[in-house]
Amino acid sequence: MRNLTSIQPGPHRNRTAKLTELARSFQEWNSASNVIARLTRRLNMTLSLEAQLTILAEEVAASVPFDALHYRHRVAHQDFVFSTGVGGPHKCEYRLSLEGHCYGTLTFHRRQKFSEEELAGLEMLISAVIFPVRNACQYIAIEQAALTDPLTGIGNKRALIEALNCTSALSTRHGAPWSLILCDLDHFKQINDNHGHVVGDHMLVRVAEVLEGAVRDSDQVYRFGGEEFAVILPHTTEEAGKQVAERLRKAVENIRVDGGETPLTVTISCGMARHLSDEQPDQWLARADEALYRAKRSGRNCTRIASGIA
Ligand code: GH3
Ligand code: MG
Ligand code: MG
Repeated sequence: MRNLTSIQPGPHRNRTAKLTELARSFQEWNSASNVIARLTRRLNMTLSLEAQLTILAEEVAASVPFDALHYRHRVAHQDFVFSTGVGGPHKCEYRLSLEGHCYGTLTFHRRQKFSEEELAGLEMLISAVIFPVRNACQYIAIEQAALTDPLTGIGNKRALIEALNCTSALSTRHGAPWSLILCDLDHFKQINDNHGHVVGDHMLVRVAEVLEGAVRDSDQVYRFGGEEFAVILPHTTEEAGKQVAERLRKAVENIRVDGGETPLTVTISCGMARHLSDEQPDQWLARADEALYRAKRSGRNCTRIASGIA
């Protein structure tokens, strides 16, 4: 078997007319002067939407000069915006559509008006980008799904681990305080046992909503186990983290879920740990978990703080 790592014209052998034609079109397609082929090749080398748009901007600029390019799309429930350059008064806008789905809007701005010829050239280049952009958008959606808990819609354990790795590195490098709160629902098994899993699931969804609603936008909430949640708090000291944990605990206490005759309530126990310099993510998580264990041992529905010893 031959190892094809890049596309190179093969050696000259006896060729039929069809193979000669194939070799000719291959050389033409592979030549550096074929702008569309070069653009397609470059786009196919990445699944990063940002990288693809950067490539498009470079290739378009070489044929149709422009002052600014904007791309916007809502992908996996998040706004994706890409911008390069500063706009002019003239603009042309394209919606990238494929098989009834939209994959974003591209807008080119320029100080001078675009000629008809330039617009035709632009459209040829843009048509080469639609399939790769579709693939990049689908890749973002798949990546996002792999990091999301399907029941509550918040980040899952994988997302938490990624965030802890990133946060630990940032905290160690910049020395800014970061805190981590682990929350575990108290006696949750009883809710399932007495009212069924559907009610239990509904309670988990409400808890996730309440936790998200009780923290700042910059704080991140994750479901990292069945009835376990984690909150990462940037720029938060131990004292402030403790206050947040208590706020979360009280907010969860106020949840009321329809449970038949009387509304159902639930409480959480919390373990809080601030990140120690040079501490590994698993050590940080283990200290918060140990504090949570003490909260459970202390009777539940309370917060305990991790010791500062890793
Ligand atoms: P503790 O106060 O010690 O934490 O008691 P607990 O009952 O909450 O803890 P335990 O570990 O004994 O039980 C956890 C329960 O969480 C058992 C399991 O059925 C439930 N659970 C885990 N994941 C889900 C889920 O996705 N949906 C529902 N409805 N229940 C879940
Ligand atoms: Mg648990
Ligand atoms: Mg529990």
